[in-house]
Amino acid sequence: MRTTKFRGKQIVTGRWLAGSLLRRGNRCFIIPFDGYPQAKDTEVDPETAGEAPINNPWRCAECGSLNIVQRVWADPNTGKATNWEDVEDDDCWCHDCEAHTDQIEEEELMETIEEWWGYLEGSIKEDVTGVEYDRFHIGDSDDELQEADCRFSAACQEKWDARDIESKIGIWHELTRDKSNDS
Ligand SMILES: [Zn+2]
Repeated sequence: MRTTKFRGKQIVTGRWLAGSLLRRGNRCFIIPFDGYPQAKDTEVDPETAGEAPINNPWRCAECGSLNIVQRVWADPNTGKATNWEDVEDDDCWCHDCEAHTDQIEEEELMETIEEWWGYLEGSIKEDVTGVEYDRFHIGDSDDELQEADCRFSAACQEKWDARDIESKIGIWHELTRDKSNDS
């Protein structure tokens, strides 16, 4: 189920509340999806009331973009989609790919991207992170090479982990897109 959540800052405590949004005149209330709190506890600062960022948004499976849409049947009385459970591939569209691409949840996409990163060649990791393997090269015995590998990998991983999701997706898309164009 894809539910639109709203949020706002509770006037009494200044804490963020999430749920459905109710407007009465100039006043705003956020009603949590579970439980029935007192009205005074649900009033939020109207300046802060709006759509909550979605925790695990749907993205284009090809390029990772959020700039996607679905063609759905809607109930004319509520404007709500009635068939979100079984949207056909043809009804999914990515504005960035300009194509009917699959849509997947961000968590799933990030699992794919983290796995892809793990198996990347060292030379590409050097390019992406700016970490140079030579810095860790201390000798040519098996032990020394292994230690250099380990320390290089850890340094690359640290740089990678410091990137945010959009940046990781951007790198993944650029490098995998180039590869598929070559073949
Ligand atoms: Zn796309």
